[in-house]
Amino acid sequence: MSEHYTRNTESVLAWCNRCSRLTMHAVSAGRRGHCTEHERPPATRKKESARERRAREKRQLKLF
Ligand SMILES: [Zn+2]
Repeated sequence: MSEHYTRNTESVLAWCNRCSRLTMHAVSAGRRGHCTEHERPPATRKKESARERRAREKRQLKLF
């Protein structure tokens, strides 16, 4: 593997300081861009929080 990224390369595995691990980084015009891991919306976390909220509401209904 060479140090240069081809124009066809869309992402590359590189170290991310924010994630503190190797993550996929976006590549545009042969240059390494931002990390795509922490840019991704946390869909699973959102689903979890919605479920948690519903559980909390249920608990409150039992109280009253
Ligand atoms: Zn990151």
